Amino acid sequence: MVNHALVLDLIERLAQTPVGETVSLDVARGAADPDEVATNADLIAAWCRASGNELVEVRPGSVVVRHGRGRDPLADLAPEQLPGHRLWMYANFDCNLHCDYCCVSSSPQTARRALGAENVARLAGEAVPAGVEHLILTGGEPFLLNDIDELVSSCTERLPTTLLTNGMLFRGARLERLRRMDRDRLTLQISLDSPTPEQHDSHRGHGAWERAVAGIRLALDEGFDVKVAATLPAELTHQVEPFKDFLAELGIRDENRVIRAVARQGVAEDGIELPVDSLIPEVTITAEGVWWHPVSAIDEAYLVQREIFPLADAIATVRGRFADYRRAANSAADWFPCS
Ligand code: SF4
Repeated sequence: MVNHALVLDLIERLAQTPVGETVSLDVARGAADPDEVATNADLIAAWCRASGNELVEVRPGSVVVRHGRGRDPLADLAPEQLPGHRLWMYANFDCNLHCDYCCVSSSPQTARRALGAENVARLAGEAVPAGVEHLILTGGEPFLLNDIDELVSSCTERLPTTLLTNGMLFRGARLERLRRMDRDRLTLQISLDSPTPEQHDSHRGHGAWERAVAGIRLALDEGFDVKVAATLPAELTHQVEPFKDFLAELGIRDENRVIRAVARQGVAEDGIELPVDSLIPEVTITAEGVWWHPVSAIDEAYLVQREIFPLADAIATVRGRFADYRRAANSAADWFPCS
């Protein structure tokens, strides 16, 4: 039986509640059994949808309803933070290095799991109508792929693109592939962790620093826009200033320096914890599906869905889930009185 009294009670209470505020409603009142409680909650949910009010939370025996709708959490983000503004693609997962803090556990033994030229081209094609403004190709080490120039070309034909690399493989046929890339539409982001070899090599292997610096110099000489990304443990933040001086000497512009903390993901045993609902998502595609953020693209807790296409649907799903997380967080804050 439809519980009209419940809806009338809610209408009356919302009429006395300022827009944006919430009320809690007892949906177990007068119910004969749990099925009837669930029916009452469904009734309130349907009424909220039809009336332009927001069902904030369903609890055992009660629901929380907002008068009107809460502010859209996406509206609080800067345009460049909006999920789907940038699209990350993992080209592959194998790597010539096996850094001890790699967030996706890459190494020479890691299975390639290549996204593939066909998928990358289709994603780049769907990215523009989906509102994406920048493409980012990462790995693993993308220069291990024999068709990396083809992947990059299908991206730069559509949008400005950044290619992440450890910068150590610019020789022979791989150097020729680099030289075929579009210097006007591509930024190379090369990993370098310190102004001297010790820190970098302690995590990435002996000789890695020398080759990365040589790769940066070569890429600059070839006329590429080069960004340098450093991963720094919290206890080494005092190295930031000397590092900046070193990058300036190399010819890396201020806006092309990225310094980030170690995340406790993949093989990293230390670093900052990043629960999924604490991260503003960056839509990330791998051969295995759509992920919440590139820093966690092998952790099933961050898997959004297996279907990559259509890309616009994948982006919409990530945005919807982010809005849900934020609304739930706001609701928790509303309902956690300290006195
Ligand atoms: S951090 Fe980068 S360079 Fe190091 S193993 Fe992972 S993908 Fe390779």
